[in-house]
Amino acid sequence: LAYVFIAHDLAAVRHISDRIAVMYLGKVVETGDEAQIYEHPTHPYTQALLSAVPVPDPDAPGWTEQIRLEGEPPSPLDPPSGCRFRTRCWKARDICAEQVPALEERDGSAHPSACHFAAETALTDLTEQT
Ligand code: SF4
Repeated sequence: LAYVFIAHDLAAVRHISDRIAVMYLGKVVETGDEAQIYEHPTHPYTQALLSAVPVPDPDAPGWTEQIRLEGEPPSPLDPPSGCRFRTRCWKARDICAEQVPALEERDGSAHPSACHFAAETALTDLTEQT
């Protein structure tokens, strides 16, 4: 028996899911198990979503500032070139407008991410917005 649970509340998703897929503008941008997604997110959109989960104690270890995405989501009928998240991503570079990032494993850990820079991204990047 398997369930597909679709939600915006990542706190609820964490408690009932074995495998998690994060979607942006109709495409999966990152998948992984609970630890991979919540403790080592490699896609900036996943990081932004996780930073928006309310925490009861801002002094708790691992707490991070909320990432506030600029602008509105583009239309899925007319998505941006390259990476669909690039118009709201604080890490976007020239290649992001030129090439669609493949959803692929970067380190052989069954944790695929559709970001050109997933291999160099870590949870500690959450507060490094530019
Ligand atoms: S590919 Fe570029 S725009 Fe897309 S999430 Fe990664 S850094 Fe951001």
